[in-house]
Amino acid sequence: MRAVKFIKVVRKLLKTSTDTLADLIYPNVCSLCQDALQNNEAIICTGCRLKLPETNQHRELSPSRMDYKFAGKVPVAFTYSYLYFTKKGRTQRLIHQLKYRDGKEVGRLLGRWYGYQLSTESNLAERIDLIIGVPLHPAKLRQRGYNQSDWFAMGLADTLDRPWSDKALIRNHYTISQTGKNRIDRWTNVSNVFSVPQTGLVANKRILLVDDVLTTGATLESCATALLEAGCASVGIVTIAATR
Ligand SMILES: [Zn+2]
Repeated sequence: MRAVKFIKVVRKLLKTSTDTLADLIYPNVCSLCQDALQNNEAIICTGCRLKLPETNQHRELSPSRMDYKFAGKVPVAFTYSYLYFTKKGRTQRLIHQLKYRDGKEVGRLLGRWYGYQLSTESNLAERIDLIIGVPLHPAKLRQRGYNQSDWFAMGLADTLDRPWSDKALIRNHYTISQTGKNRIDRWTNVSNVFSVPQTGLVANKRILLVDDVLTTGATLESCATALLEAGCASVGIVTIAATR
């Protein structure tokens, strides 16, 4: 009995000292301005949150300004981006942390914040059945260890109160190289990249497809096409950021 108690005490001490050590090595500071975070804050301080370049597209009458990126290519129910993306701006720094500095939680936090806005300021939650992140190339997934779009999807799922899945859409082992190709070549190049392994997971569902940054829309277009061909009812798009 004594030995068991001793081990428990040692474990407790070790845990406490590890936490304290972690606090010293990784102090709890805002990932944008490096100021110390208050107890009610996590990852991004309130001051920086208020300065995020929000698009507020969900408050516009449909169609939103981003829908034009898919016009004539694939029918999308809506396209909303949380933030504007500008070079060297706050959004670019957050996306960089999310993708290259193990910033999974940045993605989840932004998803929670935007999901809360979407559920309180629009009827988006009533217009979707399942949230799906754009899948990463398997080699990229191995290298990064996580899919940043899935973390954003999880955050959205938390506050929109809708399910998400990382099994409903998969990325095949093709490599996309779009440099120097025209639009038709690009489309052919990405058209077979994504597939739905079990149509039952998406059939007749209204899908919310999510990604980190919306630029040309070619990847999202390819995903939406695969989902619609598999028999889903509709595809709407939400991204963390978009170029203007
Ligand atoms: Zn800050």
